[in-house]
Amino acid sequence: MNTKTKKNSNNFIYKIINKDLKKNKNLLLHTRFPPEPNGHLHIGHAKSICLNFELANLYHGYCNLRFDDTNPIKENIKYINSIQNDIKWLGYKWHKKIRYSSEHFSKLYEYAKELIQKGLAYVDELTKQEIREYRGTLKTIGKNSPYRDRSITENLKLFEKMRQGKFNEGEACLRAKINMSSSFIVMRDPVLYRIIFSTHHQTENKWCIYPTYDFAHCLSDSIEGITHSFCTLEFQDNKNLYNWILKKTSVTHYSKQYEFSRLNLEYSILSKRKIAVLIEKKIVNGWDDPRILTISGLRRKGYTASSIREFCHRIGVTKQNNLVEFSMLEYCIRNELNQKAVRTMAVLEPIKIFLYNIDDNHEEKLIVPNHPNNPSLGTHEIIFTNTIYIEREDFKEEYDKKYKRLKIGEEIRLRYSYIIKAEKIEKDKNGNIINIICFCDVNSLGKKPVNKKNPAVIHWISIKNSFPAQFKLYNQLFKIKNPEQEENFLSFLNSNSLIVKNGFIEKKIAQKIIKKMNDNFIHLFFQFERIGYFCLDKLDSKENKLVFNRTVNLRDSWNLKKK
Ligand code: ATP
Ligand code: MG
Repeated sequence: MNTKTKKNSNNFIYKIINKDLKKNKNLLLHTRFPPEPNGHLHIGHAKSICLNFELANLYHGYCNLRFDDTNPIKENIKYINSIQNDIKWLGYKWHKKIRYSSEHFSKLYEYAKELIQKGLAYVDELTKQEIREYRGTLKTIGKNSPYRDRSITENLKLFEKMRQGKFNEGEACLRAKINMSSSFIVMRDPVLYRIIFSTHHQTENKWCIYPTYDFAHCLSDSIEGITHSFCTLEFQDNKNLYNWILKKTSVTHYSKQYEFSRLNLEYSILSKRKIAVLIEKKIVNGWDDPRILTISGLRRKGYTASSIREFCHRIGVTKQNNLVEFSMLEYCIRNELNQKAVRTMAVLEPIKIFLYNIDDNHEEKLIVPNHPNNPSLGTHEIIFTNTIYIEREDFKEEYDKKYKRLKIGEEIRLRYSYIIKAEKIEKDKNGNIINIICFCDVNSLGKKPVNKKNPAVIHWISIKNSFPAQFKLYNQLFKIKNPEQEENFLSFLNSNSLIVKNGFIEKKIAQKIIKKMNDNFIHLFFQFERIGYFCLDKLDSKENKLVFNRTVNLRDSWNLKKK
């Protein structure tokens, strides 16, 4: 443990824990990850998950998974299941059983009554709007509610009436009696309980009053024995209330709240509310659309759990809000796939080549490496014949001196194969090229040309060895770096965020993929040579047409753009 604590001592949270450990040698670190089950997890949550679970591992403590389920209107069991699944997929295990704030509702109710009995809470009958007006602003102090000085007996009676469902929603709430002129707005008699007539996914119809986040969170932390409660910076002021509630109730365990900065990532939206808008308006296709940074979207795009963990380690944990470069996230997956991905050829936008000096029945097997620098990844077989596909982009009809790929009268090397020379083209009646007629230098396999420069290399697939595939090329969803800051973020959408191409992959590779495509645990990823890293989209693929999602480009296109 010592070496690890030292190693990470730059992180301010480790400093806090190391200091606490110095003071109390028997301290057993206990953290929690507290998602509200009102949406799916995203990369921002991953930052918090890595922090909480890894601290617990590092210090041989525990990390609870607690669903912060205090608002039944927005919550749903399907989110509970997907959140658990994502945490497990990320590689973390929570301590014992899953916890829910709702399992503490009876205790929280007793603590609320305790505050009433101590004269520290009251039932208010102002409307929501009036409460807001009475609260004041940063510049003006608040005003006491006319219901603030009710007697303890009356408050107890009214609170019980709230619990029994004898008030309508919005007619009454329980508020802490703190200070309406506090410089911290959260301390101006915050609401502790509100009435919601809605069936709860855990407690069903047992309650019609629900604690607010502020009331439930600190008390749940205390009940579960959490030692360090990490949350994001916007809860800094709420810490006053967190400590106030723990101090004024008869809890025996004092948890402590610490804040760190939220993750914001360039060109991305991370707020669940805003992601939900993108889905409702069908701008993206659901929670696992690869263009949004939900864990399920990233997974579908081809990110591995280890690349997401690596990203979280690299960004670290600080108290400064900043915007992390998107290229950092891409670096983590590219780096991993560069080492692991099998290289194969795919043609995304095919154009046909006919090699007129090769026989129609010539079929030549070529053995190609799966990875240029890692022979342990093996080899695979491709076929060379007289009709092949190349990428439309790799041929230019008009003469262009600077163009280094295939053009009339010039030579090019087919990857792992022969040098060919383009001689003429055939077009259909609309003027589209349908065939490039080429000569094949049959003595060029594995040999450098004599007295000539090495020609450029392009990828290709023999038509006989091709299998239909669709390629989904994802680009940023937003045109601006910080869409999260914009109220009308929908006006900054990139209309080219998804480009679909229909082409081919090597048949032998396709056959292997088809055998494995129904195995949920296998992540099928490739480097399509000269194009990028792709993974199989298991949901959209069929046995007669495979679909691939582009995970990341071969090079950092962000930094190239900046240059
Ligand atoms: P959102 O704004 O997306 O709705 P939230 O904070 O309301 O997020 P919760 O489900 O309440 O979502 O979050 C669970 C935990 O994840 C909290 O501790 C929260 O601080 C943390 N978290 C959420 N978003 C981020 C983020 N962008 N960066 C770091 N931590 C985050
Ligand atoms: Mg929340």
